[in-house]
Amino acid sequence: MSKGQAEYIDKAQDPSQECDACKYFHPPMNCDRVMGRISPEGWCKLFEAKEGDNQMGQKAGEEARASALGVVTPGGTSNS
Ligand code: SF4
Repeated sequence: MSKGQAEYIDKAQDPSQECDACKYFHPPMNCDRVMGRISPEGWCKLFEAKEGDNQMGQKAGEEARASALGVVTPGGTSNS
């Protein structure tokens, strides 16, 4: 889509949401979703975080929850 449709801006207001951190961004200045030259420091409404640090944090959280559950019910099998 066009930059206008995507509400693209050259300078992201939130540095954690720059194109550089978006999964659609291809350095040095291309994007899967938005046509034209895209700045690594830009932003548009289609922003989606790259899989990386955030995702790892989420996964760690899930694992922590799972092991917390494991502590509540420690291996309740009666096979032996
Ligand atoms: S989709 Fe991502 S990389 Fe493309 S312009 Fe929007 S924020 Fe930037």
